[in-house]
Amino acid sequence: MTDLTTLTLAGARDALRKKELSALDLADAHLAAIEQARALNAYVLETPELARRMAKESDARIAAGKAGPLEGIPLAIKDLFCVKDVRTTACSHILGNFVPPYESTVTANLWRDGAVMLGKTNNDEFAMGSSNETSHYGPVTSPWRREGSNTALVPGGSSGGSAAAVAANLCLGATGTDTGGSIRQPAAFTGTVGIKPTYGRCSRWGVVAFASSLDQAGPFTRTVRDAAILLRSMAGPDAKDTTCVDMAVPDYEAAIGKSVKGMKIGIPKEYRVDGMSPDIDALWQQGAAWLKDAGAELVEVSLPHTKYALPAYYIVAPAEASSNLARYDGVRYGLREDGRDIIGMYEATRAAGFGKEVRRRVMIGTYVLSAGYYDAYYLRAQKVRTLIKRDFEECFAKGISAILTPATPTAAFGVGEKGADPIEMYLNDIFTVTVNMAGLPGIAVPAGRDGQGLPLGLQLIGKAFDEETLFTLGEVVEQAAGRFTPTRWW
Ligand code: GLN
Repeated sequence: MTDLTTLTLAGARDALRKKELSALDLADAHLAAIEQARALNAYVLETPELARRMAKESDARIAAGKAGPLEGIPLAIKDLFCVKDVRTTACSHILGNFVPPYESTVTANLWRDGAVMLGKTNNDEFAMGSSNETSHYGPVTSPWRREGSNTALVPGGSSGGSAAAVAANLCLGATGTDTGGSIRQPAAFTGTVGIKPTYGRCSRWGVVAFASSLDQAGPFTRTVRDAAILLRSMAGPDAKDTTCVDMAVPDYEAAIGKSVKGMKIGIPKEYRVDGMSPDIDALWQQGAAWLKDAGAELVEVSLPHTKYALPAYYIVAPAEASSNLARYDGVRYGLREDGRDIIGMYEATRAAGFGKEVRRRVMIGTYVLSAGYYDAYYLRAQKVRTLIKRDFEECFAKGISAILTPATPTAAFGVGEKGADPIEMYLNDIFTVTVNMAGLPGIAVPAGRDGQGLPLGLQLIGKAFDEETLFTLGEVVEQAAGRFTPTRWW
């Protein structure tokens, strides 16, 4: 029998519908794989009983002819999404053993469509990071290794557990969130597909907030088609999130295989940055050549404010984070540390509950929002944000269908290798943050390998609410590049 964990989401869906396999067998195969892969630390909570119960319910619905679009599909959920009655911590000590009495809209949509919950995946604390090393539960180890080396590599972050779980066949798909790159960068590092949809496409209700004007949920999968299927279920209007748009969700899967003939693809000259690895540069040119071969036209474009995106992001995101994280005061959720009086209790709780990177962001955020500095930093960053958005609008107004860029400036690095200087870590997001600042959709698709055999990804950036074009183009890249699977060592 084929190993059920190597199926694609689409393949498993079709086989379940034809009753060639049961949802319970599929769940059991994944639960067994998860147990054998604990060395990766991809999951911070396994929910085998829940998985088996949901799988049995799926089998009953399939037998009754009432299967939903994701019926019986086992998924991993980033620990930033509240799942009712299941511990949710954002991988922070401050949430302790918080068990939400409510369900995030995104996960509710997945269960509505028949998906099965395998467990919660590891992430950087409050989604702040690019390597999954700031998690209270310890780092995730990537299933990938450099050829001939045993060095433990990071899976990227902040959704590192979801990316590793998908790459290592520990689920058929996973949820992630992306504030500055947290879906696309780990997807690129692990040879998986990840899409950050347009801001407002997925509801943020029940997702632990980092920077509310940038946060967006999206899927991780092993193929572009699977990402289209999963996003369709995750997305949709929600009265509980006023920033979530009231727009019907298209059948994204129908975009797969459409012609790209005559599409204009922008190549932004500002993305050729100093220090970019030659492998990445070659990959970018290869990606452009593949799209050209498929009939697209390549056009050099200019996004002149790109160089200001990263510094502006590191003002806007911490500012919003400092405000969002004010709620963790030792009273309402999780951890409480005693102090002399109530202020002492707040201080002791926040000092003990937040890790170093989170404390850094809270301090930066509080500083840039404080009277006297607000205009110089926060307001200016917001103006830069408008200019970045305008760059993209001008580009799309010239008839550009999508923009092709690398997803990351390098391949995955070693655990513990970066981070002594926080700026070094922040530079990972150089190609992805602009997309969050502009609120646009961006997909990362595996496109090649570096000289040491590690996967590399390309990014396609689309017009607002035009995820379909990204799926069409992404699949062209995927078909040309092939798929990338790590060799099992765990
Ligand atoms: N690496 C970026 C940060 O640390 C982005 C994280 C994210 O997208 N959640 O802020």
